[in-house]
Amino acid sequence: MSNPIKAIVINKEDNNYSASLSTIETSDLPNENVSIDVLYSTLNYKDGLAITGKGPVVRSFPMVPGIDLVGTVTNSTSDEFKNGDNVILNGFGVGEKHWGGLAQKAALNSDWLIPLPAGILPKQAMQIGTAGYTAMLSVIALQKQGITPESGEILVTGANGGVGSFAIYLLNQLGFNVTAATGRLDQSEYLKELGASQIIDRNELSNPGKPLQKERFAAAIDSVGSHTLANICASLKYGGVVTACGLAQGMDLPASVAPFILRGVSLIGIDSVMRPKADRIEAWDRLAKLVSADYLDKISTEISLEHVIDNAERLMEGKIRGRVVVNCQS
Ligand code: NDP
Repeated sequence: MSNPIKAIVINKEDNNYSASLSTIETSDLPNENVSIDVLYSTLNYKDGLAITGKGPVVRSFPMVPGIDLVGTVTNSTSDEFKNGDNVILNGFGVGEKHWGGLAQKAALNSDWLIPLPAGILPKQAMQIGTAGYTAMLSVIALQKQGITPESGEILVTGANGGVGSFAIYLLNQLGFNVTAATGRLDQSEYLKELGASQIIDRNELSNPGKPLQKERFAAAIDSVGSHTLANICASLKYGGVVTACGLAQGMDLPASVAPFILRGVSLIGIDSVMRPKADRIEAWDRLAKLVSADYLDKISTEISLEHVIDNAERLMEGKIRGRVVVNCQS
């Protein structure tokens, strides 16, 4: 039996790109082995690009966007999930090449899903979203390289961004001394509340620099790339580690090998999209233990599907701070 549901639908016909809140039939959903009532989704930068058409994110049309979702299983032919289970989805090309979370229902492959960890509410999972999950993957990567609070100062770039602000918060919760690099120095108080001890102007890192600079940071979490990442490599202490997940400044990396061969520095790439299931489960279990409800409420606002398109436009204009959670059933 087919039922009507609300969904954001993106179309492209004769080069006319459009996104609208539409009514689709459950029989229109893809043929996958797990059906889900979507409780919450969220608006990431990638969703903003997809909805506004400002970036080539969507690979086939029509498309339901939404790279993150949390929901309840209503039908499953997978041994892994049964009706009533709450599950999380982040990435795997959902919202890009597979229909995503900005809808009342979704049909997804069980390989892409993980159980909602104990101790975390469905809404909280989307307050965290891909931004928090990627920050957690980055922190875990530093710890696996032996970085501890005793190692010294940890730099976080893109500090006011989704990944950066979660990275500051998580590192502070774990007892690290965090330095935040930002272009918005007027937000310094907010960054200190998150857990940064020192704030620096991102311009100190964004221009071409020397291949080896004064050894300052024990480690860094970078979501900016380009000259910023090159300067981080050049200013890590001996044996320092930097994780790279983003390209807010640029996709280039105008660096030299000097920090790697003379100071034993490590550069670790972070991909959240195709990350194996075991790593996802580890990251979400850690998030469930580290993140407080008060913090999540402070950094997020809730909207309904009706307000997704105008919020996506505001997101692209840089007018939104913090996380936007979408209640898909309201
Ligand atoms: P946001 O847009 O929320 O934050 C990016 C931040 O970077 C901004 O808030 C700003 O921080 C800083 N920034 C912006 N432009 C520049 C610039 N020209 N030079 C230096 N800093 C700049 O994005 P997210 O935090 O969600 O994502 C950050 C990056 O990580 C993006 O490139 C995104 O695509 C990528 N990403 C990758 C993932 C992966 O799996 N690898 C997963 C998630 C995100 P401030 O105002 O404080 O200076």
